[in-house]
Amino acid sequence: MLQNSSKKKKIVIAGAGFAGLRLARKLRKTDFYITLLDKHNFHQFQPLFYQIATSGLEPSSISFPLRKIFQHSKNVHIRLCEITEIQSENNILKTSVGDFGYDILVLALGADTNFFGMKNIKEKALGMKTTPEAMRIRNLILKNFEDALVTTDESTRLAMMNITIVGGGPTGVELAGALSEMRKFVLPEDFPELDFSKMNIYLLEAGSKLLGAMSEKSQNKVLNYLQNLGVEVMLNAQVKDFDGTNIYLNDKQIHAKTLIWAAGVSANTVSGLSQESITRGNRLKTNRFNLVEAYENTYALGDMAYMTEPDFPNGHPQVAQTAIQQADNLAKNLLNIQKNKPLNQFLYKDLGAMATVGRNLAVVDLKKMKFSGTIAWFLWLFVHLMAIVGVKNRVFIFVNWVVSYFTYDQSLRLILQTSNPNIGNR
Ligand SMILES: Cc1cc2nc3c(=O)[nH]c(=O)nc-3n(C[C@H](O)[C@H](O)[C@H](O)COP(=O)(O)OP(=O)(O)OC[C@H]3O[C@@H](n4cnc5c(N)ncnc54)[C@H](O)[C@@H]3O)c2cc1C
Repeated sequence: MLQNSSKKKKIVIAGAGFAGLRLARKLRKTDFYITLLDKHNFHQFQPLFYQIATSGLEPSSISFPLRKIFQHSKNVHIRLCEITEIQSENNILKTSVGDFGYDILVLALGADTNFFGMKNIKEKALGMKTTPEAMRIRNLILKNFEDALVTTDESTRLAMMNITIVGGGPTGVELAGALSEMRKFVLPEDFPELDFSKMNIYLLEAGSKLLGAMSEKSQNKVLNYLQNLGVEVMLNAQVKDFDGTNIYLNDKQIHAKTLIWAAGVSANTVSGLSQESITRGNRLKTNRFNLVEAYENTYALGDMAYMTEPDFPNGHPQVAQTAIQQADNLAKNLLNIQKNKPLNQFLYKDLGAMATVGRNLAVVDLKKMKFSGTIAWFLWLFVHLMAIVGVKNRVFIFVNWVVSYFTYDQSLRLILQTSNPNIGNR
């Protein structure tokens, strides 16, 4: 393997998501020797996964090749690998392609779907934490409608058409909204032989409200939007089991073959990490400089990090802004350490929250203002468009959105499956 033979300080960044990518970008063209490791050779923009799952966008529009980003950054070295173990006593990170020595290790591996230990659900439900998983949802939904056309049993046909989403956070809400628009505008055109008045879209939430982290005004508005779109929202609904055709709740069952699980996350972990550093949600306890407790040269960022500050006694929200802001602060601090300057404590700047349900329907909570409807929807579109990496991707997405807006159609309804059922799974 090509190794660093220079005397430069070696920083290994594990994960090229929002946090890892941002940190590497901030430290390019500095005096550090950066190695950026990820199991994908591209950065993925997770907030728009739901549009891939519902045939609104192609995966290439929301993914960006890492090598392209760092083409002109001589101090950033990318390796495609699965990170497997940390040997902190030797400062070595073990991976599927070999060992990487480091002076400073930054863990930014994000989070995965949390099935809360329910084996059947983990096996049979669909998570949406990676681009291949979002593609798998798109494939299965489209395939179910094809199968519904040829089945002779009415009850099986309905199970194939019905879709259940678990988790009333932004992902669940956005998926439910996009699917109900598909049911209204797209699917009846594609499958005129099926009766879509019988198709149900369920959104189940274990708590008493949708969008738990947003204002009451936005929560009520979103519930209203979804109900008007014909989504069956079930609050205080706890899923207990799923056999592939029936979803079992405490007091009832739902007949649906598609169960999309958007109900919780658990931070990714790596073996070899000290157990005393791991806390709620599998996150790593850090101080205000993102340094992991019990380590001197290992930092955690984004979804993996559990840092408290007076305004966030239970840790920061696991969202893109946390990852980005922590990466910015750490980049500054690593340069400060080099220059023997004092370090900056991390202070989270809450920029607000937003979620969309469909065309002209969105809610926005800013510090001093809360609004909804068309203006909120345009703001949502603008913010997400600007956050996408790459000008070409932005243009593709913009054109796609404009075309869909005027035609009420999405043209990407391809079932792209291989004969190997494991490819595209997770
Ligand atoms: C469907 C969905 C919708 C979301 N919507 C929003 C939203 O609207 N707004 C918002 O602010 N946030 C949203 N989030 C949350 C946001 O995406 C995360 O908070 C953010 O991505 C965290 O950044 P991160 O850098 O910590 O991790 P990630 O961005 O998840 O990056 C982790 C990286 O580590 C890599 N990796 C993981 N394990 C390994 C391993 N063992 N070996 C090698 N590489 C590995 C992954 O491939 C990935 O590139 C959403 C998340 C999801 C899943």
